Amino acid sequence: MIHIDVDRRLGHEWDEWDGQPLANGGDFRTGTAKYWLFTAVGLVLVTAGAGAVVLLLAPRLAQLHAQLPLALYAGIGALGALSLVWLGLIGLSFVLRKALLPGALAERGLLLKTLRLASRVGELFGVKRDWTDNAAVSVYNRLAWARDWNVRANELLILIPRCLSRAALDGVMEIAKRHDVAAFVATRGQLARRVIRERRPKAVVAVACERDMVSGLHDVAGKIPVLGLTMTLPAGPCKDAALDLVQLEQWVRSYVV
Ligand code: SF4
Repeated sequence: MIHIDVDRRLGHEWDEWDGQPLANGGDFRTGTAKYWLFTAVGLVLVTAGAGAVVLLLAPRLAQLHAQLPLALYAGIGALGALSLVWLGLIGLSFVLRKALLPGALAERGLLLKTLRLASRVGELFGVKRDWTDNAAVSVYNRLAWARDWNVRANELLILIPRCLSRAALDGVMEIAKRHDVAAFVATRGQLARRVIRERRPKAVVAVACERDMVSGLHDVAGKIPVLGLTMTLPAGPCKDAALDLVQLEQWVRSYVV
């Protein structure tokens, strides 16, 4: 029998949750290997898929111009090779903890496009998206952290979800007070995006589960510097979530001049 507590309001990212305890007590931290592996496989699959489409259409394309299929194969192959070189450079930035590429080619642009690709490919191999999303957010954070961002306290916003445990919520509020930074509880992802639009902070430290974080980063991180702290969900999704307060304070302290 599926039992979902009445005081638990599931976010839409968790619509399909079956009421069973989450794997590993809702702690999805296992390093970043899944992101690298599934992104590389995804880029190869996309390249191969594009090549297969050209192969299917080759007779018709050749009627337009005899060399057209060949030119398309060459273009797709070049793009595929470039995408793997790009992933290599992102990997190097990650290892060296240095921003080697401009933001638009890294965590504020192209990297964001690969977050969902990695989790979808992971699911093809039977890996639940939370594990891959956690890995992807870790990669994103390391790259975002590698850039120097300093803002005044009143230009930083801490965004937290409604599912934090009492202890976690109190801890966040104490950190916000200590550093004189605004903290906002966003009951839904949409509301979080609206707060950012209206308050116009210069940087955001956001707290969310992996699923909400990936969709939030995808929508927001290209426009504004964001660090994303994922939580553990020992009581299942959307209720009594815990977070690493030491990490949160370190990020807030480093952002504020
Ligand atoms: S951040 Fe919390 S409330 Fe929002 S979807 Fe994730 S677990 Fe649910």
